[in-house]
Amino acid sequence: MTKRIALAQLTSCWGCDQALVDLHLRLLDVLPELEIVYWPAVVDFKLKDLEDMPDGSIHIGMVEGSCRTKEDEHLLKIMRKKSKVLVAWGSCSVYGGVQGLGNQWALDELLRRKFLEADTVEDGRIPTENMPGFVEHIVPNPSIVSFEVRLPGCPPTSDNTAEALTALIKGQPFELPTKTVCDECPKEKKDKHITKFHRAHEGHIDPDKCLLDQGYLCLGFATIGMCGAQCPTVNTPCKGCFGPPPSVKDHGAKIISALGAIAEMEPEELKAAFPDPIGSFYFTDYADSYLSKIKGKEREEEK
Ligand code: SF4
Ligand code: SF4
Ligand code: SF4
Repeated sequence: MTKRIALAQLTSCWGCDQALVDLHLRLLDVLPELEIVYWPAVVDFKLKDLEDMPDGSIHIGMVEGSCRTKEDEHLLKIMRKKSKVLVAWGSCSVYGGVQGLGNQWALDELLRRKFLEADTVEDGRIPTENMPGFVEHIVPNPSIVSFEVRLPGCPPTSDNTAEALTALIKGQPFELPTKTVCDECPKEKKDKHITKFHRAHEGHIDPDKCLLDQGYLCLGFATIGMCGAQCPTVNTPCKGCFGPPPSVKDHGAKIISALGAIAEMEPEELKAAFPDPIGSFYFTDYADSYLSKIKGKEREEEK
């Protein structure tokens, strides 16, 4: 029997969809097993089509993106109601994503910045008509509704999505690994004694040696290993886009604590090396951090 699948997009860049389409001919391995009942990124489905489906009638619901708008929240809750197995698809969905970094500022500051103050804006105005309504603070989707499966990555690789779909089509569980990107990385690792951090474009990288050992902020040690260490393999430091392994509660806190142990530098030097610590240590998962949760609580209390 084919499985009914729905793929919904909340606030996102739609890159997770792109990674699925990037399976190219390998899509033919999974498509005959699936009946696509909702996928507005590709076919002209309307929200009402989804709302009209019986509850629990979708076998696999894939949710990409996080809730920046009230419309996103509505779509997420409808997907939960209609789906037997709901998948948080991509780091936006699992952790809040890059847009979660906006939680550092209040909503009115974000709106002012985007619509009035950005360098490219002329005669700006904050739109008020035909708007879906913004939420004050982004939270990870699993804090709003329950999910059966989490598939992080920005985006998850095409193979990750194919593996998850294949398991779900067969009715098998899909578990996250406990390994890190470092476990998948072929570079030679040594004891770490870092006395200076370099930007990715500075200096000369030794392609055989660990990037972190050479003073490049590679976050593979604190990041779940699902991508095959694709960035360090081509000498680009890992930015941690898949988030932490399941045992780590707060990605950035883990990174900061590890850096404290291996960086032989004065606090001022470390501060100067990372002018945007939240952006550097929580690329896709700030909304899931203790700091963001505290900020959200403070905002609630202020209201
Ligand atoms: S997880 Fe990354 S690739 Fe996927 S929608 Fe979000 S920003 Fe785009
Ligand atoms: S280069 Fe990065 S991913 Fe590879 S071993 Fe070093 S820290 Fe880990
Ligand atoms: S190496 Fe790091 S930044 Fe690159 S895809 Fe993997 S988790 Fe993301």
